[in-house]
Amino acid sequence: MQIDVITIFPAYFEPLKLSLIGKALEKQIVEIAIHDLRDQAPGVHKSVDDTPYGGGAGMVMSPEPWGAAIDQVIDSRDAQIHDLVVLTPAGQKLNQSMAQEMAGLSHLIFACGRYEGIDHRVTDYYQAQPHVRVRELSIGDYVLNGGEVATLVTLEAIIRLLPGVLGNPDSLVEESHSIPAPGDEESHMLEYPNYTKPAVWRGLSVPEVLLSGNHALIKGWRSKIARERTQKILGQTGE
Ligand code: SAM
Repeated sequence: MQIDVITIFPAYFEPLKLSLIGKALEKQIVEIAIHDLRDQAPGVHKSVDDTPYGGGAGMVMSPEPWGAAIDQVIDSRDAQIHDLVVLTPAGQKLNQSMAQEMAGLSHLIFACGRYEGIDHRVTDYYQAQPHVRVRELSIGDYVLNGGEVATLVTLEAIIRLLPGVLGNPDSLVEESHSIPAPGDEESHMLEYPNYTKPAVWRGLSVPEVLLSGNHALIKGWRSKIARERTQKILGQTGE
């Protein structure tokens, strides 16, 4: 999988070198290139924004540097289809199914907005290109200062799903948001709570069933607790 990120703050992406994603980069499971949008900005001031048409507060990111930066990464990759992800709080909300779907793509481009966002003609233009698919993506119903953190969240959700990234791929099987609710493919359950040694900590014991060694009982208990938790947090039982 090839990933390009376009931003005015490349330093935000230093943490990608850490932990499991750092290892995935070393193992070349994924290739990530970070591009500074200002490299495409004209003039000595390398300005990437301007005042909004129609008035209003704040500045809007200009289409020219965005067009140049996106064209450049598209030209540098040989994928047949390029998936452009425009981060915006006005986009479709990220969930586990979307992360799963994106983990199957070959080339992703992340456009990190700042200020009041990117001139919308950038989205419109690339939506009309036959070799580009565009999605406007939000990571939740709140507003951040920029798309960098939203991109990091999305990248982590995607990359951990790629084969070879997690030490034990079974970890993905029973995770929250991945467990289909019984009889309802659309709903997903939250995971049961987890415990490790010691068996008693500050007077609190691990649920006894987990010490029983009886796999059927443990499975039944976990499934019951997962259902209760899902009902409480998400207001659904999945039944
Ligand atoms: N004026 C925009 C609005 O009200 O929809 C908000 C712009 S926000 C201050 C600046 C940038 O942060 C956005 O262009 C986007 O890239 C990013 N951003 C902010 N909140 C986000 C969210 N919830 N999900 C994804 N990106 C977000």
